[in-house]
Amino acid sequence: MNTLQITDMQNYSTLLTLFDQYHDFALSTHINPDGDAIGSELGLYHFLTELGKSVKIFNTDAVPESYRFLPCWDNIEDVHSISTYRPEVLIVLDASTLARIGKRLSKALLPTHELVNIDHHATAEAFGDVNLIMPSASSTSEIIYKLIKCHQGPIGKACALCLYTGIMFDTGCFRHSNTTVETHRIAAELIEIGEFAPDEVYRNVYEQLPVAKIRLSGEVLRTLQVTDDGKIASVYATQGMLRKTGTTPDAVEGIVNQIQAIAGVEVALCASEMTARSTKISLRSQGHVDVSQLAAEFEGGGHARAAGCRIAMPYPAAVRTLVQTAQRYIDQSSSEHGDCQKD
Ligand code: 5GP
Ligand code: MN
Repeated sequence: MNTLQITDMQNYSTLLTLFDQYHDFALSTHINPDGDAIGSELGLYHFLTELGKSVKIFNTDAVPESYRFLPCWDNIEDVHSISTYRPEVLIVLDASTLARIGKRLSKALLPTHELVNIDHHATAEAFGDVNLIMPSASSTSEIIYKLIKCHQGPIGKACALCLYTGIMFDTGCFRHSNTTVETHRIAAELIEIGEFAPDEVYRNVYEQLPVAKIRLSGEVLRTLQVTDDGKIASVYATQGMLRKTGTTPDAVEGIVNQIQAIAGVEVALCASEMTARSTKISLRSQGHVDVSQLAAEFEGGGHARAAGCRIAMPYPAAVRTLVQTAQRYIDQSSSEHGDCQKD
């Protein structure tokens, strides 16, 4: 695996030199963008714009409704507005692989003078000319915060709100194991600078749900299966359920976290039918199993406790395959941890 761990100041400096050297920047992130994807790219957008740079953001997928309170979200464009435009520098955020920004987008934007890759996924590939990959960071937004600090700021109000939102999202509202004392300190500083109310940010992101999404959760949760040992919980969402409830695939996000909360469950998975032969899988772990490794077996990736992949199988086969593979990981981790095995 082509993973680089970069934690020293020198790599920030390399990147900061590019900020001095070039004027035209384009930013992008992964398909189905989440809070950290949107937060980190908008945070960097505000910082570079305030430095007087020309900055454009291009994403394959639309900004989810819940992030449309972030300043300048509507400046995010899609592949159709690229035409003959070419940036000097393309900065890819939170994407793990270049392919995950979307084929059409990378074809339209590249080559550039410099390709920069900023990420915190342990499974991230070093596809850039400059790679800032920090698996120890809670989020890509946290890396952007540190980058701006190395530049000696300033972090503007809009930037602070975007970075806070990204950190809040990727730490599961400061409750996942990637939350450190430092994460809380950074969050506190961002609240002070941004002068926003954290409870309002929470409400914007998590409590503006359309009724349809709750109805979809109901449909999906009804498919719950738990293995005999109680350690693997799985659900699936079909195209039929999306049609019935009038929802889109992004409405499936978050359902996996609900089944992860079942007592005794080690691995939770949610399968979403994308097409008749393609299934998106979301994986969560309570800590014993590294689900980024599990996802990597199917060309996916992510973090030890939250990962995903896409499999070229109909959803029932994908669920069976994933449950079997997860079982193997659980058996391995039980023998490594010396758990008592039932005969
Ligand atoms: P989610 O289940 O919320 O979609 O994703 C959980 C984590 O796994 C995120 O950090 C996300 O970036 C990563 N992830 C999800 N799907 C994929 C995938 O197909 N490939 C890779 N490399 N990472 C993924
Ligand atoms: Mn992230």
